[in-house]
Amino acid sequence: MRKFAARLEDDGWDVRYAKLNDPDNAQTLSGELLCHTREHAYSHHIQRLMIIGNFALLAGIDPAQVHEWYLAVYADAFEWVEAPNTIGISQFAEGGIIASKPYVSSANYIDKMSNFCDHCEYGSKTKSGPNACPFNILHWHFIDRHEQRFGNNPRMGNVLGTWRRMDGAKKQTILEDASKILAKLDADEVV
Ligand code: SF4
Repeated sequence: MRKFAARLEDDGWDVRYAKLNDPDNAQTLSGELLCHTREHAYSHHIQRLMIIGNFALLAGIDPAQVHEWYLAVYADAFEWVEAPNTIGISQFAEGGIIASKPYVSSANYIDKMSNFCDHCEYGSKTKSGPNACPFNILHWHFIDRHEQRFGNNPRMGNVLGTWRRMDGAKKQTILEDASKILAKLDADEVV
């Protein structure tokens, strides 16, 4: 992944959120997806929305940058279709007009929809600690930092309730782990 990201950066792209996994493992989720995107200028809807878009939203990446990146890399990304899908559905950045809830998930959904997690160094079912999937950790960080905003959204009630009921020490560990991941991304380091 690191080598691929370096090639994209040489081309002038900001791809910090692509550096999720082991750079030498072609079977990792982000490595395979982004190599596929680079080679074919295409990826499946679920891969765009639920993996790359999901990670960008969880990590708090500028939606305008995500929008521009999608336009740049996908051959079928015509802006009149791409913009509402990316800014509205994927990044929830249009004020909730198109989507009624943010399209975020932990590893559980990715594991159900793909076989990526079978080969991953992270544990898709691990919620905290060094082996925990970054999607799991960042998902809770996203819920925590937007708790007030989504407090009255009925579609977010279950996940907010789960977060609020979680043991305080466990929550603290997750938030600290998430802050480390985000700091690494900000420092342009591999997560
Ligand atoms: S365990 Fe997490 S990081 Fe690994 S492939 Fe699954 S969702 Fe991606």
